Amino acid sequence: MPDHHARRVRRDRAVHAAVSQGLLDPDETPVAAFVDVTGIAETARELRAAWPAELDVLHSFAAKANPLVPVLALLLEHGLGCEVSSPGELAQARAAGFPAGRTVLDSPAKSRRELVDALTSGIALNIDNFEELERVDRLIADGLPARRLGVRINPQVGIGSIEAMSTAGRTTKFGIALADPGNRDRLLRAYAARPWLRWVHVHVGSQGIPLELNADGVAEAVAFAQQVNALRPGQVEGVDIGGGLPVDFTGDEDTPTFADHVAVLRRAAPELFSGAFRVVTEYGRSILAKNGFIASRVEYTKYTGGRAIALTHAGAQVAARTVFAPDAWPLRVLAYDRHGLPSGAELEVQDVAGPCCFAGDLLARERKLPKLGTEDVVVVPDTGAYYFSSPFQYNSLPMPPVFGFEIADGSDGADGSDTEVVSFRVFRRAETLDELVARSGTL
Ligand SMILES: *Cc1c(COP(=O)(O)O)cnc(C)c1O
Repeated sequence: MPDHHARRVRRDRAVHAAVSQGLLDPDETPVAAFVDVTGIAETARELRAAWPAELDVLHSFAAKANPLVPVLALLLEHGLGCEVSSPGELAQARAAGFPAGRTVLDSPAKSRRELVDALTSGIALNIDNFEELERVDRLIADGLPARRLGVRINPQVGIGSIEAMSTAGRTTKFGIALADPGNRDRLLRAYAARPWLRWVHVHVGSQGIPLELNADGVAEAVAFAQQVNALRPGQVEGVDIGGGLPVDFTGDEDTPTFADHVAVLRRAAPELFSGAFRVVTEYGRSILAKNGFIASRVEYTKYTGGRAIALTHAGAQVAARTVFAPDAWPLRVLAYDRHGLPSGAELEVQDVAGPCCFAGDLLARERKLPKLGTEDVVVVPDTGAYYFSSPFQYNSLPMPPVFGFEIADGSDGADGSDTEVVSFRVFRRAETLDELVARSGTL
């Protein structure tokens, strides 16, 4: 089990050190994001330990959750693979050093160029639909190698609490719908005609999907793989079970854990653990969410209609989902004083607002927090996935810097006392206004 208390302590020390070291300068850098390098190592270790060692498993991190190249490189270092869904994500995975054999490409709309690239370089490819399958047929007929090919099925097991994140509804856009009339037989014939189709892929959804629903979808994929193999023994060599382990945004605990997921999968799809199949996983949010946070200085405070409002620099540009769908994506907000120490101010109900010019740009509404003041620091934990790493360009707000941090315990040697050093490494420089203008069109 990862140490949740240790994670909180690391965060507190990082905030304090970031303020002391000038990384959250009120004038120069009022908003920045931070990645817990030790936390990533612990999470990767926990993930690997949750799956039986005797199984052939590749944990391919879903790059869209946090495609920062230094983050991807860390995950590679800790033994993970990478799942990508666009040419941009593939380029980021390659820049991080992922070899083709540890890379998986999924996307519902792969261009011919993407398919040629994946086939030529030997990246695992999951085909989304019958038309894509025919396109791949032609490329293989033209002489491209068929190395790691599978088909994504839609098990149509149902949706979770966030419809936009659910990928196994009756009419969801992803994969081949297995329960639609005729599709199962058509797909079985497709496998029979193509001995190079050797994988089955499923991804039931992201966040809001109960573990049991996720496992039902995986069970459908495993059952389909077995159905193919009953007709053509050994053809399907692996099942890619996707991601979607939900994250608890209400506290520092990882619940459910990877081990919880494995336990539910064992019950619903025991054949996945029989050794008959290789396994690929595509966890994203559950690997990174709790290993990153956003910190912003409070610029101003005021009262409006009796409501206390703190105006910060963290809004829709770094937390688009929470701002636009606050009920589906609530986040905690933690108050620190201007020195970066946990605030001891009296509690007050406040709105925590971002810098964007629309009224809904709020990270928290009517939240009871220590009373915030100018230059205090607000920290938004659990934002390591799908937040600052996929910024939104509204109001031409530049991308904030991202720092990886590590804490070294050591002796200063002089008097034998222990000193603690938080070291920061730039993962992404703050975007400059020149860079921003450069991506704003050409004259
Ligand atoms: C988004 C996505 C994932 C990752 O989902 P998480 O909820 O972040 O774990 C995995 N596989 C596919 C195909 C995806 O689209």
